[in-house]
Amino acid sequence: MSDKTIFEMIIDREIPSDIVYEDEQCICFRDISPQAPVHLLVVPKKRIVRIAEATSEDQAVLGHLMLTVQKVAQQEGFAEAGFRTVINNGPNGGEEVPHLHLHILAERQMLWPPG
Ligand code: 5GP
Repeated sequence: MSDKTIFEMIIDREIPSDIVYEDEQCICFRDISPQAPVHLLVVPKKRIVRIAEATSEDQAVLGHLMLTVQKVAQQEGFAEAGFRTVINNGPNGGEEVPHLHLHILAERQMLWPPG
């Protein structure tokens, strides 16, 4: 894999971000261009490029990311009101950063179908 992604630079503190949670496997920080009053990104420290390229070796970290969404939702106080978690994958999915991340959108009513 080539150059560092923007998210690896955030993990390595080479560029600033507003971090709300971190542990040995992942980090969660506020999206720089929020699409809801609360917009967080949960990112594995191991660079998995996208969900379509994850392998069975990634099973534990993928589960950890999901439980981190739950943990952050409780920590930030929007678990009960509800929220949306999104993974964009590839061109049609609207993926911009080739480093797996789970969006958490909260504190407004979400619509369906999504845009
Ligand atoms: P994607 O479209 O790949 O699913 O989402 C990438 C997300 O990363 C976008 O919502 C974008 O606003 C966010 N993002 C891109 N660059 C930065 C950055 O430097 N800092 C932060 N906090 N978020 C970023």
